[in-house]
Amino acid sequence: MTTGRRAEVSGAGFAGLTAATALAKRGWKVRVHERSPELRTEGAGIVLWGNSLRVLDKLGATHDLESRAMRSPAYETRMNNSIKSQEEMEGVRWISVTRPHLFRTLLTAAREAGVEVISGSEIAGATPEGVVTLADGDTIEADLVVGADGVNSAVRDSLDIPLKRERSRDGITRFLVPRRKADLQRLEPDTEWDNYIDFWNLEPRVLRVLYVPCNEDEVYIALMAPVDDAQGSRVPIDLDLWTASFPHLAPILEEAAELPGRYYGYQTTRVDHWTEGRVAIIGDAAHAMCPALAQGAGTAMQNAWTLAEAATAASDADLAQALIDWERLERPYTDRAQDRSQYYADTRQMAEGSQFQGDILETALYDPTDPKRHEVAV
Ligand SMILES: Cc1cc2nc3c(=O)[nH]c(=O)nc-3n(C[C@H](O)[C@H](O)[C@H](O)COP(=O)(O)OP(=O)(O)OC[C@H]3O[C@@H](n4cnc5c(N)ncnc54)[C@H](O)[C@@H]3O)c2cc1C
Repeated sequence: MTTGRRAEVSGAGFAGLTAATALAKRGWKVRVHERSPELRTEGAGIVLWGNSLRVLDKLGATHDLESRAMRSPAYETRMNNSIKSQEEMEGVRWISVTRPHLFRTLLTAAREAGVEVISGSEIAGATPEGVVTLADGDTIEADLVVGADGVNSAVRDSLDIPLKRERSRDGITRFLVPRRKADLQRLEPDTEWDNYIDFWNLEPRVLRVLYVPCNEDEVYIALMAPVDDAQGSRVPIDLDLWTASFPHLAPILEEAAELPGRYYGYQTTRVDHWTEGRVAIIGDAAHAMCPALAQGAGTAMQNAWTLAEAATAASDADLAQALIDWERLERPYTDRAQDRSQYYADTRQMAEGSQFQGDILETALYDPTDPKRHEVAV
């Protein structure tokens, strides 16, 4: 079934590929423009929660994704290398996967749904009327334009959407390394090394390591240090510094020290509005957030799904109003996730352990595919 309508999507990241697939499955003719000459993703691993996993269920991608993913028995928090909490999070869906695996899974789903994905195609901007300008000056008309072109979105900036950017005091460098479970067990025999482990040291120096197994062979580690700590934020990493703080992780820190990497300062971008006429922005273009709740991509995917639903339900004449209504309904969930992530980044409260309770789980438990999600219970 086709709607006869055409969508042009800027950016083949997790947001753009999800929106493109969701639209194509609803009958849109969809083309994704990716600026990079190659289709691939940056980064190491990623945690996905129920909100995005439900979207992946609907896209028919969960089976492939979970064939090489990990659901850790617990989220463990350690302070100065002793255990503070082990949260089993019963009833909460969450997995960790490598970014290349998530990317390949989404790209396959997009292509199977009939999406055309073009690499080396940069979008310079768009108008509220749905005219997209490519970097080479060519223009294309679309019924819907999706700006999923990341934190420095050209689509967003071409529409002059006001934004505020706040940088936090911490940042992180990410690596994907072999798990070396046997070597870790030699150093700490009582540990299975299957938990997601959040290692914190606040004194005498703030350093944190996130240990995130993604499958039987690979672990994603994220090394956090304050922006103003030149030694801690150096890449390649200062192996002596990190092994002195986290001696039990020496085998995998040695692997990370051999790899190139990039230090990302945490930042939050808040934009004034997500839509202008026939254009909607999603993902980091609309709401880049600190990674504390691990929900930047999760909220991107939930908003991609609900955008496709809202745009398809609207007639062509009503599209602009439908996008405004979509933002009004969906945005508060993302704003709260952003606020909570920012709060955790500012306070470093996750170091206290036992943090995945109550309101903090709102985003993880949100079901963007439930048609009754906005009905008020009486
Ligand atoms: C350290 C760290 C850890 C994180 N951990 C998690 C986590 O565990 N879970 C989670 O859900 N989120 C996590 N996030 C957040 C998540 O990575 C991002 O929110 C998500 O990847 C954003 O996806 P996106 O598609 O919006 O943007 P991007 O991934 O930035 O994709 C944008 C795409 O658009 C392309 N592009 C840019 N400009 C143009 C243009 N003009 N024309 C055409 N193409 C263009 C880019 O090349 C890119 O491919 C983390 C982030 C960081 C920094």
